[in-house]
Amino acid sequence: MTLELVDVCKDYRVRGQRKRALDGVSLTVSPREFLCVVGASGSGKSTLLSLVAGLTTPTSGEITVEGRPITGPGPDRGLVFQTGSLYPWRTVERNVAFGLELLALDTAERRRRVDWYLAETGLAAVRRSLPRQLSGGQQQRVAIARALVCEPDVLLLDEPFGALDVQTKEDMQLLIRQIWRDTGTTVLMVTHDVEEAVFLGTRVVVLASDPGRVAAETRIPLADDRDLTAKRTPVFHELRASVEDLVRASHRREVIR
Ligand code: ADP
Ligand code: MG
Repeated sequence: MTLELVDVCKDYRVRGQRKRALDGVSLTVSPREFLCVVGASGSGKSTLLSLVAGLTTPTSGEITVEGRPITGPGPDRGLVFQTGSLYPWRTVERNVAFGLELLALDTAERRRRVDWYLAETGLAAVRRSLPRQLSGGQQQRVAIARALVCEPDVLLLDEPFGALDVQTKEDMQLLIRQIWRDTGTTVLMVTHDVEEAVFLGTRVVVLASDPGRVAAETRIPLADDRDLTAKRTPVFHELRASVEDLVRASHRREVIR
């Protein structure tokens, strides 16, 4: 799956005024890539993801999946937000099965997929629970399983671990990398957390703010099977520092301008 953004701009109207949220963003996400986009709050990260998800349309520019322009949401793109996207009245397994109701699958295939993704996300034991009976981390696992069950070409993650405590967040980082390796899915994730971006990504793109635009990018030369010990290596500290410098530099240029 190749996802391509070409010179994408997005303007919002705020009280009659035009506000540019994204300015000339061009990006290619290659098959099996785990691309992390980092940027300060307000740099247009959520705007970028909702454009790719097809929830909003660009003011100008083009977004394509496998060469096909995006015209709206579709099962080829699975989306996970920070919080609050589950149906409170549905059990875990029925939340996960929800995505499949829109696909023409027979009952056996439906059941196979739900079982597989519940197991993959460590939810088999709580499959009949309601969201409110789960911890924050478990609720995000459900959101991830629900996005994955459609076997999308690309998984879109908008700060999915932002509301979790540090321990749970690290568990979830390991989980999402394991899923990425097991399923071969392409991932586009946005986060303000540089450490998270460097730990998860095969490549990191830095967004500058006001208007949101691509300021820099860097490859992450860490092993595909990296674990949490990677965070304690000198090479990780160096990568993290250099991305933090890029974020800081893109910010400073704005302040001076
Ligand atoms: P991030 O996710 O990086 O915090 P957003 O994409 O949410 O950034 O927002 C980028 C900019 O666009 C911000 O200045 C924000 O106020 C503005 N913005 C986002 N959504 C809307 C909207 N629906 N209407 C008007 N302005 C918006
Ligand atoms: Mg956001």
